[in-house]
Amino acid sequence: MHVAENLQNIRSTIRQACEKTGRNPDDITIIGVTKYVTIERTEETIAAGINNLGENRSEGFLEKYNHFRDRATWHFIGSLQSRKVKDIIDKVDTIHSLDRVSLAKEIDKRADHVIDCFVQVNTSGEESKHGLSKGAVIPFIDSLATFQHIRVVGLMTMAPHVDDEHVLRNTFRQLADLRDTIQQRDLKYAPCNYLSMGMSNDYHIAVEEGATHIRVGSKLVGSGNE
Ligand SMILES: *Cc1c(COP(=O)(O)O)cnc(C)c1O
Repeated sequence: MHVAENLQNIRSTIRQACEKTGRNPDDITIIGVTKYVTIERTEETIAAGINNLGENRSEGFLEKYNHFRDRATWHFIGSLQSRKVKDIIDKVDTIHSLDRVSLAKEIDKRADHVIDCFVQVNTSGEESKHGLSKGAVIPFIDSLATFQHIRVVGLMTMAPHVDDEHVLRNTFRQLADLRDTIQQRDLKYAPCNYLSMGMSNDYHIAVEEGATHIRVGSKLVGSGNE
């Protein structure tokens, strides 16, 4: 399938989810996750109208970034090793995977401007997933107050790998509640207005539950066999 057709389907699903819940589709940013696909397919993605791109490894990120540069807004969505921060920090627009103080320190040290970050939350409790437990999020955000170059723009999660709609909805709702709590604290360095949640299989539910950024790979660009 062409990216443009996939995008049409995704937009129509977003529209339905928004109609159901009284949201405005313009409030949802679609991040095209290009980690599975080639430069050519990424070119097609940009041509289809997606200008927010996400990569989960620094090597893939640099390959795409070096090719497309300012033709896209760049999201780093995967777990980030501290030693890789220096490679991507002056290229990335938003980091979705801030999950520890040592990483915050490295970002703060290497960045020459304020970097928008999502704090990654492990809502599934699966050990294989990165991110902070829900209970650790607020103390973690408190510990970021002294970093000049970090702004917490929202929370990010990867939902558990299940089909149970109830479980997924509950996961997204919990992240939204946590976001509300942080937002109400009105911290200058942590406005926390956004929710990065929802992937190919669950973005329709995430949008109903308030996602502002969805990260869609396989349903948008395919999974690399195109
Ligand atoms: C790969 C990836 C996605 C996209 O996954 P799909 O299921 O293909 O849409 C989203 N978020 C993160 C963090 C990823 O690593």
